[in-house]
Amino acid sequence: LALERLKKESLKSALEINTSVRRVLAETLISKGFLEAPPVIFSIVTDPLNHPVYDPSFMYGDYKYSLTKSMIFHKQILVQEIPKFFIFSPNVRLETPDKAASGRHLLEFTQLDLEIKNAHREDLMELAEELYVKTIEYVIKHNSKALQSLGRKLKVPSRPFKVYKYLDLQEKYGDDFEAKLSKESSEPFWIIDIPLESREFYDREKDDEPGILRDMDLIYPEGFGEALSGGEREYKIERIRERIIKKGQTFEQFHWFLEIAQSGLELSTGFGIGIERFVRYICGFKRIEDVHPFPKVPGE
Ligand code: AMP
Ligand code: MG
Repeated sequence: LALERLKKESLKSALEINTSVRRVLAETLISKGFLEAPPVIFSIVTDPLNHPVYDPSFMYGDYKYSLTKSMIFHKQILVQEIPKFFIFSPNVRLETPDKAASGRHLLEFTQLDLEIKNAHREDLMELAEELYVKTIEYVIKHNSKALQSLGRKLKVPSRPFKVYKYLDLQEKYGDDFEAKLSKESSEPFWIIDIPLESREFYDREKDDEPGILRDMDLIYPEGFGEALSGGEREYKIERIRERIIKKGQTFEQFHWFLEIAQSGLELSTGFGIGIERFVRYICGFKRIEDVHPFPKVPGE
């Protein structure tokens, strides 16, 4: 089965597109003064996520390490000293088998994860749109053969992308709003102002609207679903502590991060965009595993 996958013409096309996607993203960020940081593959603290996944961990010396689910805490700490950086960050999330049906979940994937100091959500949304449009333009220009062999017609979306508030969409479309609107749309769009219960503790709560976060999701058109998540971060230690308690999580779990946060953090904002999902969308594949030579699919 593995050999069959490797021999597919469509895998070669996907890898050509993967090469372009990583190149445009990295080159664009570098041209804007971002530094590239190396990934952290395992750590004593990682993203708690807002959905249950199995947590692979092991002891080394006196410490218990987890495989990285995201580098959120490392980003928030590093950005204090390095105000603009990105990481191609491998994440392991042992998702539940029901996630296989989505066509966009792998157990192992890569985020282009970035963070900017003293920036606001709107700055990051602009940056994401620029990266998105530049990538599509580049692929249309340089990977036309691959797109043609995949039977994929792509058009460059117009900016600015539409912006919807989470609760407005939920009221209009019901709980399945994201999937419904993604299917209906021919252009990518934003969902902003996500309620606190639906997200992790580290996304910043609005000062003027308690319970609502200064965060955002970018959604692909044509039913491809979520592209990226991001947001402003809670940076005041008292607020971070409150939010951890609200989630029913423990300080112990985040000890390493809290100890550093205690010495004072400044505001930062960032996002992570899944590379395999981006390549899948560009290729127009029904299933994300078709972009990877050695995919790990939930439940398999
Ligand atoms: P999150 O912060 O959890 O939204 O993850 C950031 C981004 O990583 C998402 O918007 C997706 O593009 C990507 N991503 C998250 N989980 C997976 C997964 N299981 N498989 C592939 N990509 C993922
Ligand atoms: Mg997300």
